[in-house]
Amino acid sequence: MAWTPAENRHEKMRYNRLGNSGLKLPAISLGLWHNFGDDTPHQRKVEMCRTAFDLGITHFDLANNYGPPPGSAETAFGRILKDEFSGLRDQMVISSKAGYLMWPGPYGEWGSRKYLIASCDQSLKRMGLDYVDIFYSHRFDPDTPLEETCGALDHIVRSGRALYVGISSYNSQRTREAAAILKSLGTPCIIHQPSYSMLNRWVEDDGLIDTLEELGIGSIVFSPLAQGMLTTKYLNGVPEESRAAASKSLNPDFLNDKNVENIRQLNRIAEGRGQTLAQMAIAWVLRRGRITSALIGASRAAQIVDCVKALDNPDFTDAELAEIDSFARE
Ligand code: NDP
Repeated sequence: MAWTPAENRHEKMRYNRLGNSGLKLPAISLGLWHNFGDDTPHQRKVEMCRTAFDLGITHFDLANNYGPPPGSAETAFGRILKDEFSGLRDQMVISSKAGYLMWPGPYGEWGSRKYLIASCDQSLKRMGLDYVDIFYSHRFDPDTPLEETCGALDHIVRSGRALYVGISSYNSQRTREAAAILKSLGTPCIIHQPSYSMLNRWVEDDGLIDTLEELGIGSIVFSPLAQGMLTTKYLNGVPEESRAAASKSLNPDFLNDKNVENIRQLNRIAEGRGQTLAQMAIAWVLRRGRITSALIGASRAAQIVDCVKALDNPDFTDAELAEIDSFARE
């Protein structure tokens, strides 16, 4: 059935400026790492993309290797763009990345010019796009000169394959180096994509959030729900239809008695705030405006609806933050 996006979609979302750039991102963005591969029915993927867009989520995040198999999430998204989002490309921000293993041999991963440019071309082809809005170096490569990786990103922009570039999971020091090189090339680094959640504080410990603010780089944080652990789904065991049951990326061992008890306490705090735990986890990463966008994943459209309601109660008292820390920080 033909689909027309909700007319009031932008009223439901907050849009935040990415660092010093001219680009705004929705406070909540949708990532296609899981549940967009060949193991998920196509119609479910369509519903998730439609629902997200109807709620004002204009940004969809991909990477070369998302699937399974690698590449299949981009292929599925390309089909959805063609069938569902015709005429809407200019209302969307689409990103892709290269860095992790994509094809065999020495040119199929990390950060060489050879790999990044070939991978970007493959991603564009799979999605049926002329350009992506943001192209990332997915991880720092210790064996390739950063000048080469950044030079490839600069070329990707200058050749029209991407409008902006970013980096993912680089620490503060490497971020400073990459930002300086990219600035000297005339292609600023406008976005950093690190992991961050109540249970994963490396960006605080490393000083990365401060570094990004100092450099005027925006931030989109991945796995704000700790891959689903910061929801109520694991409070009574591992449900069959869940990431912990289905995928290797979320180790069920992490769901030990101590962690589950802490999550139960976090859920109690969320209930006291009139929110679901998922909503509180998202509001928490976005607290006090230091993070541009929370990058969620979903296996069902209803989860996206639930997550976006995080924006209804975004503020925390100091007492709430301290209590959260007592259950979510070692
Ligand atoms: P989340 O922490 O948001 O976890 C998503 C999972 O949480 C869903 O698959 C679902 O689990 C569960 N969930 C989501 N909403 C709800 C809800 N309202 N109620 C109950 N459960 C819910 O993020 P992801 O780990 O999926 O990562 C998000 C995106 O970040 C990725 O798609 C990708 O774009 C990006 N990413 C980037 C990386 C990088 O290196 N740059 C690495 C990893 C991710 P279930 O499937 O069990 O239902």
